[in-house]
Amino acid sequence: MSRAGIVLTPTRPAARAVAGGAPGLETIVTGAGPERARRAAINLSARCRGAPAVAVVTAGPAPAAGPDPLGGPGPEPGDVVVASAVPGPHGPVPVPGASLLAAALARAGLRVHGPAAAGPWGPGASAGANGSNGTNGAHGHGPGAGPADAPGDGDGRAADRVGFGDPEADAEAGWLAAAAGDRPLAAVRVVTPPVPPPGGGTVAPAGLGLAAYRSLRRVGRVLAAWATAVGPRRVLLAEPRSFCAGVERAIEVVERALDRYGPPVYVRRQIIHNRHVVADLEARGAVFVDEVDEAPEGARLVFSAHGVAPAVEAAAAARGQTVIDATCPLVAKVHREVRRFARRGYGVVLVGHAHHDEVEGTMGEDADIRLVSTPADAAAVEVPDPERVAYVTQTTLALDEVEEVVGVLRDRFPTLVGPSAADICYATQNRQDAVRAIADECDLVLVAGSQNSSNSHRLVEVAGRSGSVAHLVDDERDIELAWLAGARTVGVTAGASAPPWVVERLVEALASLGPIEVETRAVTAETVRFPLPEAVC
Ligand code: SF4
Repeated sequence: MSRAGIVLTPTRPAARAVAGGAPGLETIVTGAGPERARRAAINLSARCRGAPAVAVVTAGPAPAAGPDPLGGPGPEPGDVVVASAVPGPHGPVPVPGASLLAAALARAGLRVHGPAAAGPWGPGASAGANGSNGTNGAHGHGPGAGPADAPGDGDGRAADRVGFGDPEADAEAGWLAAAAGDRPLAAVRVVTPPVPPPGGGTVAPAGLGLAAYRSLRRVGRVLAAWATAVGPRRVLLAEPRSFCAGVERAIEVVERALDRYGPPVYVRRQIIHNRHVVADLEARGAVFVDEVDEAPEGARLVFSAHGVAPAVEAAAAARGQTVIDATCPLVAKVHREVRRFARRGYGVVLVGHAHHDEVEGTMGEDADIRLVSTPADAAAVEVPDPERVAYVTQTTLALDEVEEVVGVLRDRFPTLVGPSAADICYATQNRQDAVRAIADECDLVLVAGSQNSSNSHRLVEVAGRSGSVAHLVDDERDIELAWLAGARTVGVTAGASAPPWVVERLVEALASLGPIEVETRAVTAETVRFPLPEAVC
C-alpha cells in the first residue's frame, strides 16, 4: 500500500516488524524519543503528502507496573494500546475510529487495551468485539450513552485513561500524529518487555521481545486492511430506523418503574432484544430473569415487549408478584386475535420463528395452534378441520416471506381467514420499506441490531434480496475492515430495538475513514405513540 497509507514509527526494529506483517506497507522511521519525533515532524507532512491515511505505531514498555487504573490487569508485553486521542504539541490530537481499529486488532488475535474496552480486549479477555460485557465497566446511561461494555463516563472514551500513558511515547506519537493533518489516522502502541532502552526513547533495537515482535507483525496486517478501507464515501441513512413506539414504551416502563419504586425491578426476559439497552438498564438496577420463579415472591416484575403466555401471568400471580406489563400493544393484538379465532372454533396457524419470545408467548394462548416458518412447513402442517383454519403472524417478519407462506396455506385451505389488519407491525414494515429503498444503490448496508433481534435480521435479509451486501452489527466494533474495501456507498439502518446512538457511532466510524456525504432517505414519517401502563403513569 505504498501510497494507500504510511506507517510512521520511531525505530527500525518496529518498522521491520510492521512491514514484515504487511510487506506492501510504506514505513518511515522517525527516530526514537520525543526530540527526534519533533524534528522528524518538521518535514513529515511533505513526506506523507499524497498518502490517504497515516498510522503511527510506537513500541515500548508498559507505562507503569501494576494494574490499569480502571481495575483490569495491566498491559503485558505483546499487548496493544489504542487511544482515541494522543497528546500533540498543540493539544490532543483526536484519533477518530479508534474503537473500529481496536476491534479489528482484537479479531486478529491481539489483546487490546482501550478505547471503549473495559480492560484487555481480545482472546481470553473479558470483553471483546462480539463478547460479553466487560468486567470493570460501569455502563453508559440513556440516549447518547456508549457501548454496553464501555467503561466509566458514558461515552465510551474513559478507557483512554489507560491510553498510551507513557509521557515519552505520548510525546513521540503526538508529534507524529500531527503529520496526518485531516487524513484518517491510526495510533497504536505495542507493549515491549520492561527493559530500559539505552539513551532514552521507547525501545532498544533488541528490546522488542518476541511477543511484541509478533504483535507488531499482526498490527501491520490489520493496518494494511485499515488502509484498504480508507476512502471517500456516500452514506445513505434509511428512515425510519431505530426505536419503534413499542420499544420506547417498554424501555420507559422499566425506567419509570426504577424511578418510582427503586431497584431492584425484575424483568422477565430481555425487555427488548438489544444488548446495549439491557446492559444499560441492568446498570440502573433492573434484574433480568428468564422465568418468574427466578424473581422473589412478591417482587415487582415487568413483562417484556414480546408478551407472555397466560401460564406465565398465572405463575406470577401465584407468587404474589406485582406485574407491570410492557407487552407491545401490537403483540397483545395478535394474542387477542388468537383467542377470538379459538372462540369461533378455528384451528390457528401462527407464521413465525420458533424460540422467539414473542412466538413462545403467542403459542401459549389457550387455542389449537400450530407454528409454521417456511412454505415447506405450510405445505406439511396438519390441522384438525381444513374448513376452519385461521392464521396470524409474528409482528417482526418480512412481508414477502409471510406472503409466500400464507399463499401456500391459502392454496391448501381455500376458506383460510386471517387478521383484520396485518400482524406485521407498522415499524417492521416501515423499516423494511426504508432499507429496500436504498439497498440497490449501496455497496454495503450496515444494520444496527443485536443477534437475537428478529426485525433486525429481517432488515439484513431484505437488503440482501434487494441486491446489496448487508451485515448485522451491534455497534461500530463489529464492522470488519474488509467489508469496507471498495464500498463507496454505504447504507445504514437500525432495527426497531437498536438505540439511535448506535447509528451515530456507525456514521462516525465511517467518517474516520475519509470524507463522507450523508443523505437521509425517508419513506414515511412515524407518529405512533402508545400509552404507558397505569402502574408507571
Ligand atoms: Fe411493537 Fe412492532 Fe416495535 Fe415489536 S417492532 S415492539 S410489535 S411496534
